[in-house]
Amino acid sequence: MELKITCIPGDGIGPEIVAEAKKVLDAVAVKYGHQMNYTDILMGGASIDAYGVPLTEEAVQTAKSADAVLMGSIGGDTTTSPWYKLPPNLRPEAGLLAIRKALNLFANLRPAVLYEELAGACPLKEEISAAGFDMLIMRELTGGLYFGERKTVEENGVRKAIDTLTYDENEIRRIAVKGFEIAMKRKKKVTSVDKANVLDSSRLWRNVVEEVAKDYPDVTLEHMLVDNCAMQLVKDPAQFDVILTENMFGDILSDEASMVTGSIGMLASASLNDTRFGLYEPSHGSAPDIAGKDIANPIATILSSSMMLRYSFDLDEEADAIDNAVKQVLKEGYRTADIMSEGCTKVGCKQMGDLLAQKIG
Ligand code: NAD
Repeated sequence: MELKITCIPGDGIGPEIVAEAKKVLDAVAVKYGHQMNYTDILMGGASIDAYGVPLTEEAVQTAKSADAVLMGSIGGDTTTSPWYKLPPNLRPEAGLLAIRKALNLFANLRPAVLYEELAGACPLKEEISAAGFDMLIMRELTGGLYFGERKTVEENGVRKAIDTLTYDENEIRRIAVKGFEIAMKRKKKVTSVDKANVLDSSRLWRNVVEEVAKDYPDVTLEHMLVDNCAMQLVKDPAQFDVILTENMFGDILSDEASMVTGSIGMLASASLNDTRFGLYEPSHGSAPDIAGKDIANPIATILSSSMMLRYSFDLDEEADAIDNAVKQVLKEGYRTADIMSEGCTKVGCKQMGDLLAQKIG
């Protein structure tokens, strides 16, 4: 199969970690008889330096013509980089917002996995972390409170701010369908998170999710209030498979879930639209403090490329090969500096990529 992939190396450690992800994808291509067809585009600071804007229309068109986009990360040191002296619409992050909008990416997926070998980095009590966990937070990305009408007014000398939270049933249905589809590829459980005891938007959310669930009889659906979910994530994270939720709840819960893994260099993410197209990137930023030193952890980006194979190309066996390679390399005791612990073997970014590529082949 030919896989048409647009790559955005980006800034900071971005080019280093994307190079390692390509190395691993190339090993997958050789082993399983695929052809990787990469086209690189500039975004963020690299695009500002070359073209004066964080994202060009030409770059958007290149991204749209691919089957998927694989990204490193963008941005620089926000206190010292000249990119942050520019007006907000010309700064690196504006490129990211623009590409998400241009590609209509409404579903954000963030897995939070606690690997047995990295359990020491988990801030939870040992009796909780011992069970490990492997969950995926599916967050609606383009609706809700962050996109509703807002204004600040003054009434009788008192300042008043108004934000509105709106969802229509179509917005809920399309993300719910994605959530159930993805649960079918995992442990077949969806926890839909809302605040249906208070909010109308949550009551509609719950009704529509139940309608969608009828098409997926193999998937177990449960509802959970968001305040309870925030507690359960630290009390019993092993209970979750897919957490399906709206924009603001997902923003907060996905950060909480990331934190309980304790390893920022391991966390992948994906943003999808209603076709098979997706943008895949690590959850971390461009880490300008360690750029160019060959010490960044490329695993989050490599696991993002595994998500790309699974969700944009339906290549589950190939994705499993990458996920298993990561587990195997951790089991053998290889660690980049950020996840290093006593008794393990410290490796750089390139060597970690080499080790993972070897495991595939
Ligand atoms: P960051 O995630 O880049 O770094 C936070 C800390 O984690 C740093 O100490 C860094 O060295 C470390 N770290 C991050 N990724 C690592 C990896 N793969 N291996 C080893 N260590 C790693 O967050 P920040 O410092 O707040 O932001 C730096 C820049 O990244 C900013 O310009 C920010 O706007 C941008 N950013 C971009 C994205 C994106 O592209 N989607 C996301 C978040 C932040």
